[in-house]
Amino acid sequence: MPVSVTTTDGQGRMLADGNEIPLLGLGVWQVPNGPECVNAVRWALELGYRHIDTAQAYGNEESVGQGIRDSGVPRDEIFVTTKFQPRSKDPVAAVERSLERLGLDRVDLYIVHWPAGGPTWAWPGMERAHELGYARSVGVSNFDVQELQQLVATAAVAPVVDQVQFSPYEYRKALLAHCEENGIVLEAYSPLGSGRHLGSEVAGRIAERLERTPAQVLLRWCIERHIPVIPKSTKRERIAENAQLFDFTLTDEDMAQLDQLDGTGGTNRAQERKWWS
Ligand code: NDP
Repeated sequence: MPVSVTTTDGQGRMLADGNEIPLLGLGVWQVPNGPECVNAVRWALELGYRHIDTAQAYGNEESVGQGIRDSGVPRDEIFVTTKFQPRSKDPVAAVERSLERLGLDRVDLYIVHWPAGGPTWAWPGMERAHELGYARSVGVSNFDVQELQQLVATAAVAPVVDQVQFSPYEYRKALLAHCEENGIVLEAYSPLGSGRHLGSEVAGRIAERLERTPAQVLLRWCIERHIPVIPKSTKRERIAENAQLFDFTLTDEDMAQLDQLDGTGGTNRAQERKWWS
C-alpha cells in the first residue's frame, strides 16, 4: 500500500504503523558528544524542529538527551530516532543503553543502521524492542530493494522507514518507487551531500531566482516529494536557514532540472559502496 499521506499541516508524514514523522529533522552525525551537540539540538528545537536523528554509532546520545531537556520542548512533541549499531549483537540490550544515555523511556524510531551480516538477523530483536515499548516505530537504513524484500518476507512487524543517502545527485528512483509501493517511507540522509552538493550550479541558479539558498533548494526537492529530510548543521543560522522550507515551492521545471543531476542511474540500491562488507 502506498504511504504518501502528509499530515494536515503539510509538515509531517504518516507512517504505515499510524505514527507520524516530521518531514524536517536535525541530523547529528560527526557532532562530538558535548556542548556543540547539546547546543545544536537545543537551537533546532527552539527554532521549531521537532525531529532529531542520532545513532548509537555517533556516540552523542547523551548530548542529544541534554539538548532536548534544555530546550524545554515537551518530550511528546519531539520525534527522536536512534539506530542499532549492527556490530552489537542484541538490539534490545543496545536500545536499553541508548535510552539510558538519552534519558528517555522510549524512542520514536529505532532503525538497523546498515545490513551488516545480512538483512534479517537483527529483526527479531528490533521487533522485541518495539513490543517492549522501547521504540514506537521500527525501520532500517542503507537497505536495497532486495534486502527490503528479504526482510519483509520474514518480518512479523514490517519496517516503516528506510533511511538512505538521497538527494538530487543520488536520486534512487527505483528504491523510492519500491518503498512507496510497499508502505515504507524513504527518509533522506546526507541531503546536502555532507556539504558537497552546496556548490551545485543548478541549485544555485534556482536559489537565486527564488531568493533562497542552495541548501534550501536541495532540501525542498525532498519536501516536494514528501520525503523526510535530516540536514546536519551545528551553526545556529544554518539550522534556522535549513528550516525555512515550507513557505516556498519548486516548479515542475525546477524539479526536472534537479532530477537530472542524478548520478546513480535511478538505482534500486541504497549504496554504491558498502562500507560494511
Ligand atoms: P548533510 O548532507 O546534512 O550536510 C551537512 C554539511 O553541510 C555540514 O558540513 C554542514 O556544516 C553543512 N551545512 C549544513 N547546512 C548548511 C547551509 N545551510 N549552508 C552551508 N552549509 C551547510 O550531511 P550529513 O552527511 O551529516 O547528513 C545529515 C544526517 O543524515 C546526518 O547528520 C545523520 O543524522 C544522517 N546520516 C545517516 C546515515 C546512515 O547511515 N543512516 C549516514 C549519513 C548521514 P556545518 O555543520 O558547519 O554547518
